[in-house]
Amino acid sequence: MITYIIIAAIVVVGVLLCFCLAVASFASDNFYEKLEQYQQVQNSQGIRTVDYVKAINNAMFDNKLNIDRCAEYDDHYRAGTVALSQTTMYSNSLASLATVSHELGHALQDTQGDKLRKHWRRKHIGRIFGLFFMPAVIIGLVLSVLYLVDVLPEMYILVLGLGFLGVGILIFIFALFLKYREIQIEKEASKFALKFLGQILSKPECKACEEFLNSAKYTYWAVFFKTLLSWTFLTSKDSMFR
Ligand SMILES: [Zn+2]
Repeated sequence: MITYIIIAAIVVVGVLLCFCLAVASFASDNFYEKLEQYQQVQNSQGIRTVDYVKAINNAMFDNKLNIDRCAEYDDHYRAGTVALSQTTMYSNSLASLATVSHELGHALQDTQGDKLRKHWRRKHIGRIFGLFFMPAVIIGLVLSVLYLVDVLPEMYILVLGLGFLGVGILIFIFALFLKYREIQIEKEASKFALKFLGQILSKPECKACEEFLNSAKYTYWAVFFKTLLSWTFLTSKDSMFR
């Protein structure tokens, strides 16, 4: 009986591992495929992204949002500012409208509470912690090995080694926690985006935008899985606290 349970557990872990690796590998290809596809589809209202942002800024944010320029493919929201590339700004494709709506979703999150800024602060702290990850793991491993091979046989060497390894594990868990929070925040921004889009687009167009935004969401899961499996060397490397 126990043998069957162990076999079942191994199969489940194997299937989950394959699923995580598949998402980690194909999410970004899938996203760029959808991006290319929906960059070709013009919205039925003929509205340009920049005019759409201005309309939403007026209707939802009392014109308090700044609209700034940024590099191509770097469209983003930062404290009170929606930054758009030249291409996004003057496009009227569904991809551009969905992208900018997502950024407006972040703007709405920012006005509704402090979860977005809290997340930014945590990421900042994470980047500092991240600097100590590798040194902590290496020192922890070296001390533990030196104890185990009797070069430094004192008990406190093992305690110190395990302590350093523990710090490394805590930093790793913190990185996973931040990636998971990021997914929740991105998901909510896309939910708000679909509400904005619903005000101007037809149902099939909204469906297409939802499909595009979902493909973007999978890239965040990919980042999560890459971080989760980074120690297995089965996935490409991804920064812990990007
Ligand atoms: Zn986002």
